[in-house]
Amino acid sequence: MFEKVLIANRGEIAVRVIRACKELGIRTMALYSEIDEQSLHVQFADEAICIGPAEGNQSYLRADRIFSAAEVGNVDAIHPGYGFLAENSTFAEQCRDCNITFIGPSPETIASMGDKSIARGMAKQAKVPVVPGSDGVIESEAEAKRVADGIGYPVIIKAAAGGGGKGMRLVNNSVSFSKEYRVARAEAEKSFGNSSVYVEKYIEEPRHIEIQILADKHGKVIHLFERDCSIQRRYQKLIEEAPSPFLTPRLRNEMGRTAVRIAEKCGYVNAGTVEFIVDKHGKFYFIEMNARIQVEHGVTEEMTDIDIVKWQMLIAAGEKLTIDQKDVKICKHAIECRINAENPLRNFSPCPGEISFCYHPGGYGVRIDSHVYSGYRVSQHYDSLIGKVIASGHTRDIAINRMYRALSEYIIRGVATTIPFSRAVMLDQGFREGKFSTKFMEEFLARTPVETFILPKL
Ligand code: ADP
Ligand code: ADP
Ligand code: MG
Repeated sequence: MFEKVLIANRGEIAVRVIRACKELGIRTMALYSEIDEQSLHVQFADEAICIGPAEGNQSYLRADRIFSAAEVGNVDAIHPGYGFLAENSTFAEQCRDCNITFIGPSPETIASMGDKSIARGMAKQAKVPVVPGSDGVIESEAEAKRVADGIGYPVIIKAAAGGGGKGMRLVNNSVSFSKEYRVARAEAEKSFGNSSVYVEKYIEEPRHIEIQILADKHGKVIHLFERDCSIQRRYQKLIEEAPSPFLTPRLRNEMGRTAVRIAEKCGYVNAGTVEFIVDKHGKFYFIEMNARIQVEHGVTEEMTDIDIVKWQMLIAAGEKLTIDQKDVKICKHAIECRINAENPLRNFSPCPGEISFCYHPGGYGVRIDSHVYSGYRVSQHYDSLIGKVIASGHTRDIAINRMYRALSEYIIRGVATTIPFSRAVMLDQGFREGKFSTKFMEEFLARTPVETFILPKL
């Protein structure tokens, strides 16, 4: 096993990784930007080193500085978390060149999965249904329009290098295609430094259902069932749960086996997620594979009682997966609400500032993954996720009521958060009945009075 791991990330995921290391008896080294000096990940790690100013491209994205830190700390391995360099194949390759284990898949896998159009091609080869659309990226507007006209509107234009809900444009008819195509390319270039796009049929009112995979270096691949992440805003997940209230045992097994097949086909190693959208008839389509730990991994951990982050470490160190597929069980229902420092009354705009007072709820069946505390300053330089609440219980109803209870006890003063919003969702009839699609948020926001999102002061 590794003696020391460097965590090349910040925020709640850095804290999460440090916790797994501690439980495995691994020493930890944290990195931080100047503005993050007071962050919990810095305080929890055995060692910490400052790597530059607040801006991501001056700190957490600076591979050169990260490798200098790795050398100073003499670490065996680097955990990249999610975002930043987690899906940067060059970074993973540099780790290999320096003889430092990258805790994640191989650079080759990252490179092919990081290009969503290549990943689509690989899924097709593995005989996995993909959303009808173009073969690979499209070079010219005329060709793109031909594909779109052929599959029929609405279509979605996607950046091949996209992620985090960015780089997608919905096109409702052929008249607006040209404009949207140009905007999509320009946005892709600006956000990802890569203007390649491809076209997919827009599936109306689908569910987002993804399968968690674990694969060791000895060729064993298992899945840990699904997560339903249909509660989204602007293609970004807000509330996730497992198991999905929509899946039948049969569809669950079929999707699980399909995800395993993709992972096997591409020689995938470590934890990963195969994302699908599922239409109302239960027909599922591959959309992408995330070659990293995901924000919502904790939902699966609570459902299956399997520590995914620990397994990332064990797998990277070359250990064999000792869990067989038949041993993976749905032990509980788990729901996660992402807590963002955003103002639901102002169109969910980020709300940086000092948290004057913070109380994280607890109690039976409630898990909090967070890096914030009273006096913590939420910076505008990073994404607005300040924590995650995961409530679990033997039934979905218990988990929902428990989540409502936990969110009611959550106190964060000084910055606006999505807590009251998520709390309102827990009371929503459609949500409680498990009847929703990725359109849920739009409809919920339209029918829910904004006053609902203001919590009475405790
Ligand atoms: P990202 O890389 O940003 O995560 P994804 O391709 O995973 O992008 O898509 C994010 C979300 O966008 C999905 O969860 C879904 O809600 C929506 N989406 C993506 N592709 C389609 C599609 N073809 N039809 C309908 N919705 C889609
Ligand atoms: P998840 O798939 O785990 O739900 P999100 O889509 O919420 O993850 O993204 C997690 C973090 O990673 C966010 O900060 C997001 O901006 C970042 N991220 C994800 N994919 C990319 C990408 N391709 N390029 C840059 N940042 C990304
Ligand atoms: Mg995705």
